[in-house]
Amino acid sequence: MKPFAYESARDTETAVRLIAARSAAKFLAGGTNLVDLMREEIEQPDLVVDVRGLPTAAIAASPGGGLTIGAAATNTAVANDRFVRERYPLIAQAILSGASGQIRNMATVGGNLLQRTRCAYFYDRASSCNKRVPRSGCDALDGFNRYHAILGASEHCIAVHPSDLCVALAALDTTVRAVGPNGERTVPFEDVHRLPGDMPHVETTLGADELITAVEIAPLECARRSVYRKIRDRSSYAFALVSVAAVLETSDGVVTTVRLALGGVAHKPWRAVRAEQVLLGAPATNDTFDRAAQAELAGATGRRHNAFKIELAKRAIVDVLAELAGSGGAR
Ligand SMILES: Cc1cc2nc3c(=O)[nH]c(=O)nc-3n(C[C@H](O)[C@H](O)[C@H](O)COP(=O)(O)OP(=O)(O)OC[C@H]3O[C@@H](n4cnc5c(N)ncnc54)[C@H](O)[C@@H]3O)c2cc1C
Repeated sequence: MKPFAYESARDTETAVRLIAARSAAKFLAGGTNLVDLMREEIEQPDLVVDVRGLPTAAIAASPGGGLTIGAAATNTAVANDRFVRERYPLIAQAILSGASGQIRNMATVGGNLLQRTRCAYFYDRASSCNKRVPRSGCDALDGFNRYHAILGASEHCIAVHPSDLCVALAALDTTVRAVGPNGERTVPFEDVHRLPGDMPHVETTLGADELITAVEIAPLECARRSVYRKIRDRSSYAFALVSVAAVLETSDGVVTTVRLALGGVAHKPWRAVRAEQVLLGAPATNDTFDRAAQAELAGATGRRHNAFKIELAKRAIVDVLAELAGSGGAR
């Protein structure tokens, strides 16, 4: 590991000022991703600014029934929060499907949003990776790409975003609050993470000197009945092959509200807008769910090891929607 300086910030202004003063500085939260990357010398900050002591760990109901989660809240605290479990169970399910108890105790919401891909070629410094070294190539394209993207990928990068929590947040109307040298701003969640295009090393629209302080989730009464389903190679301690976060409300057998997002399929948490368009106002039947899944995956591209994920994603969508509609198993 390269030598680095350490500072602990007690207020957000100090944290931002310390980061802005150095070009290679990084915020440090639970360290469960950043420290691993520093050990591998993939991340090489000359300064880390510890943000765990900031007063940004509160989890609070907001007026009208929404939810504000502070960026320094641990994943465990969020998953255990009573309001979260009652009003947004998909958030708790998503968190509890990830990592291990010990890691969730350390990991924070801010760090979870900005964790980096688990692509093996990104971690292996002997491999070519446009994300790690811009314009060096992508060994995943013709390599072992079982876990890689089927939607929104480019010839420069087929890595996926690894977070489970982010998939649940993508399905809800979420905004991210961030503070930087130019003050505070809010960013719609769908605009935070980027598709790879020809710049896969630029993963978000946030500046390196912008501190996430909170995520704000709009009220959504019907999210009380919501599901996060994660399909993976083993039932614990594994990243998603495909995951689905869904909220579904019906009236007289017709879909009146739907929120759908996919994980494990793209460089960013994937809001399934095409599927939602098919579903809204349509009968809540398996036939509709199937048409919605087909529409969403119509633009998917499979590679040597991951083509199976296209059918897997379709079936997962149908299965989750059928469960929420109470119409039984999908197939
Ligand atoms: C073995 C293992 C298994 C895992 N399995 C899963 C899984 O199945 N599902 C899943 O979702 N995750 C999984 N994770 C990832 C884990 O959830 C993340 O490592 C964790 O959420 C990152 O949070 P952190 O607080 O430790 O962030 P850090 O490691 O401290 O930081 C991560 C990044 O976020 C930045 N950052 C942190 N806080 C802020 C902030 N407030 N504002 C701006 N930037 C910030 C840091 O600069 C850094 O770039 C796993 C991790 C491990 C080690």
